Amino acid sequence: MFTNKRMKREASTIEAMLRIYCRHHHGAGKNLCAECDQLLEYAFARLKNCPFQEEKTTCWKCSVHCYTPGMRERIREVMRYVGPRMLLHRPLMGIMHILDGFRRPSPKNK
Ligand SMILES: [Zn+2]
Repeated sequence: MFTNKRMKREASTIEAMLRIYCRHHHGAGKNLCAECDQLLEYAFARLKNCPFQEEKTTCWKCSVHCYTPGMRERIREVMRYVGPRMLLHRPLMGIMHILDGFRRPSPKNK
């Protein structure tokens, strides 16, 4: 689905975060509940259309607000909950995500 490493990492980070959130809030097992699954689909679709691609920072810090307000609120909620727990559950992924957040991307269509 994503061709470069950076985007693959962002996609798997979002998926891991949603899994933790869903397990803790909706009692999901192996699969996400319908609501979280829909949110993941949406996040992936946004990533695909991201103008920064491999240069992108984390969605959390991005200057382009490509999420609709409603979806943005939902993903914020997930990040707020899972963010501090990421280092506990997925240390390497959490650290990489923090590092990615320091990127200062410039849009390709500048
Ligand atoms: Zn859920």
